[in-house]
Amino acid sequence: MEKENRVIPRILVISEVKKNHILPVTFELAGKAAELARKIEGAVDVLLFYDRLDEPVDSLFQAGADRALLVEDSRLGLFNQEIAVKIGLEVLRRYPAQIVLAAATTSGRTFLPAMAAILHTGLTADCTGLDIEPETGLLLQTRPAIGGNVMATIKTPTHRPQMATVRPRTFPKPVPVQRKGAVEQLELPESCFSSKIVPLSHERISDDYTNIQDLDVVVTGGKGLKKPENFALLEKLAKLLGGGVGATRPTVEAKWIDYPHQVGLSGKVVSPKFYLAAGVSGAVQHLAGMQTAEFIVAINKDPEAGIFKIADIGLCGDLFEILPELIAALEKERGEGR
Ligand SMILES: Cc1cc2nc3c(=O)[nH]c(=O)nc-3n(C[C@H](O)[C@H](O)[C@H](O)COP(=O)(O)OP(=O)(O)OC[C@H]3O[C@@H](n4cnc5c(N)ncnc54)[C@H](O)[C@@H]3O)c2cc1C
Repeated sequence: MEKENRVIPRILVISEVKKNHILPVTFELAGKAAELARKIEGAVDVLLFYDRLDEPVDSLFQAGADRALLVEDSRLGLFNQEIAVKIGLEVLRRYPAQIVLAAATTSGRTFLPAMAAILHTGLTADCTGLDIEPETGLLLQTRPAIGGNVMATIKTPTHRPQMATVRPRTFPKPVPVQRKGAVEQLELPESCFSSKIVPLSHERISDDYTNIQDLDVVVTGGKGLKKPENFALLEKLAKLLGGGVGATRPTVEAKWIDYPHQVGLSGKVVSPKFYLAAGVSGAVQHLAGMQTAEFIVAINKDPEAGIFKIADIGLCGDLFEILPELIAALEKERGEGR
């Protein structure tokens, strides 16, 4: 009897739609939310707000969602922080949730903290792990702290909802399971769409934009490359392997390469099938962005370099000898060589 009257705890995943498609991170979050929901005997809602969506939402159910809450409006074309916050709050008012998750993308990092501040609750940004504490049912939010040197697990014991952002590729994309869910098309009040902010356009600040998170092969260069021109070696290798170029923070700070290439704690998290690190020492802050790669090859002349600890193959030697040899061998194999 008691069980029948129980209010099902809900987890709300606030998703993002870009170029009329659901961002892949939504599925990663829905899968993780479903795992958490099983532990609290709860259910997962996914909120999508957009001006146009060119794909069915069934894939969200296959990833673990129980219900899709859809807000469609022509004014939702360009991301507007104020409107996103208003929509999030209105949806939470109608569909109270114990836990709210969003992607730690530029948008998610903007609207979720604003919502948390208005709701007077806590938020843990850039979580690398989420779990449920068995004794209390509280959300355990784990993330690197103190410059990545320790992993902190944070709880929100008294305020609700418990809020967290997670960077894309932190959790694996769930294997689709055939299951159905409920779809609710929401009509929100006009006030949700009014804003003092008028977005005129969104433009990339760099022409050199490569989304290394979407690639199966990432070849990364560190300070061991010595000068910016030497990134050409990695570009050549990346082209031969059908991948992209990653970089460590000092190379980005030295303006050898643009920020979208940065891998690590303050860059992107990548999880490719193949990751090569050349002239990279393997600082914890760098490892935080690539240690989930399936196969890691490291080239470093220092046998004590930390990167060797997580590499599947470690090549101890001079990258200026090894990389050209690797490139020549690949070119020969593909008949493009001299
Ligand atoms: C809060 C915070 C956030 C950070 N975020 C990031 C981040 O997102 N990403 C990131 O990468 N770092 C980040 N860092 C910086 C990080 O701590 C390291 O300083 C950085 O990763 C080191 O970069 P590196 O490996 O290119 O350089 P170095 O540590 O200088 O290593 C260069 C390596 O190249 C090797 N080498 C030199 N010459 C050769 C050669 N000819 N052949 C082969 N090997 C050679 C050397 O042995 C050395 O191991 C962060 C730091 C902090 C405090």
